[in-house]
Amino acid sequence: MSESTDRPSPEDYSNGMRIAGGMIWGTVLSLTIGSGMVLLPQVPRPWLWAVPVMWVALSGLGVWLQWSVARGNCPKCGREQSVTRLGKRCPQCRSYLQASNRKIIRI
Ligand SMILES: [Zn+2]
Repeated sequence: MSESTDRPSPEDYSNGMRIAGGMIWGTVLSLTIGSGMVLLPQVPRPWLWAVPVMWVALSGLGVWLQWSVARGNCPKCGREQSVTRLGKRCPQCRSYLQASNRKIIRI
């Protein structure tokens, strides 16, 4: 046992995991909105037919977002995190980070 696989690397976040992650995100969100529509008597019942459409749309959006997610260390302070293509601020050093080609870049 010479090889260590303890430390996760960006390559560990495979395409399959990206698709599954996006689908799960879309499913959870659709279930939440869908059950909210069922519980509210004010929502017209025919509207519930929109839930499957919403599920497809949200899952697609989830996969699209996950597809480009970069995992790695902040270029400035080295904190490990996930960054989407929409960008976010590093929680440690407040640098504005964005995913580009599945790499974290500072902008
Ligand atoms: Zn940082």
